Amino acid sequence: MMIPVNTPLLDGNEKKYLNECIDTGWISSEGPFIKKFEDAFAKTVGRRHAIAVCNGSVALDAAVVALGIGPGDEVILPTFTIISCASAIVRAGALPVLVDSDPVTWNMDTRQIEQKITSRTKAIMVVHIYGLPVDMAAIERIAAKHRLLIIEDAAEMHGQRFEGRPCGSFGNISTFSFYPNKHITTGEGGMLVTDDEILADRCRSLRNLCFQPQKRFVHETLGWNMRMTNMQAAIGVAQLERLDEFVLRKRQMGNFYTHALQGVPGLQLPLERASYAENIYWVFGIVLEDDVSFDAEEAMRRLAELGIGTRPFFWPMHEQPVFQAMGLFAGEHYPIAEKLARRGFYIPSGLALQEDQMETVGAGVRAMMQ
Ligand SMILES: *Cc1c(COP(=O)(O)O)cnc(C)c1O
Repeated sequence: MMIPVNTPLLDGNEKKYLNECIDTGWISSEGPFIKKFEDAFAKTVGRRHAIAVCNGSVALDAAVVALGIGPGDEVILPTFTIISCASAIVRAGALPVLVDSDPVTWNMDTRQIEQKITSRTKAIMVVHIYGLPVDMAAIERIAAKHRLLIIEDAAEMHGQRFEGRPCGSFGNISTFSFYPNKHITTGEGGMLVTDDEILADRCRSLRNLCFQPQKRFVHETLGWNMRMTNMQAAIGVAQLERLDEFVLRKRQMGNFYTHALQGVPGLQLPLERASYAENIYWVFGIVLEDDVSFDAEEAMRRLAELGIGTRPFFWPMHEQPVFQAMGLFAGEHYPIAEKLARRGFYIPSGLALQEDQMETVGAGVRAMMQ
């Protein structure tokens, strides 16, 4: 039997709260768990407003549009990220401008940002990758100096902090995802958080088709139906109750794998800590060093034969056929991201993973390298 790359942990109050939805008939986005989840989430990340939506990708769409980013604007983001970040910018009619990654943290290399700033640059979209936050002190310095907006994609950073400040509390607006492989899940789901009341109102309107309070079916702006259901929020409330425990569990998992794999030649493991944060191991990534004769695809094939599930790392935005077909990023190269994409993969690291499974995975990775 395959050890799955992710299995969520749902053995808290999830069932109890879900039953409440069914018993009361509140299953749509109108139910009471939505506000409960939003309020608890806002408090957790230290923001004034939280707006629950149906996934983390549309949260980015709403963030970009709510900030007024559109045609003629440029947004700087890492090339090494999920498509949702760049697609939100492109769909808004703005231009994504890329920077490469830091080879050790795998996060955007903040030293490359200033050379990409033009008179059209409107925002930096920060994406925290895999468990360690981006150097937010550098981002805040650059954004203040050049008067840029900050969108923080904190989908992988539930419960993480940068120098003690919660991820999700930085910049103008932050987004989260509750996909089942995130630290807390609602099945599908997302959240926008901000301190800015006007932005929050815009997001609430965009989430709900931009219906108007007075003339409901007369629209000044195009929105989406991005609403989260009360059932998803019910699961979210139960999951959020256990955030600290989940983060601890993920860290223990990360430490276990680090000890199991430390010293295996040819493997670059996740950085355990930066000066500003300790890794929370959203996933446990492994990068094959240059002297290894095979690539991530081969490593994942070998591990599958041993019954170990894996996933590849992100594929960089500048190498996406869909963007190349639009004429974007022509001739651009980002060697670190290109290497991470070809030589990086991650091993099972879901919250329900058992210690004997982790032992099997550790032994499998060591065997695969021989
Ligand atoms: C998971 C993830 C998303 C997308 O979230 P969905 O809920 O799957 O749409 C966005 N950004 C990052 C960095 C993610 O890891």
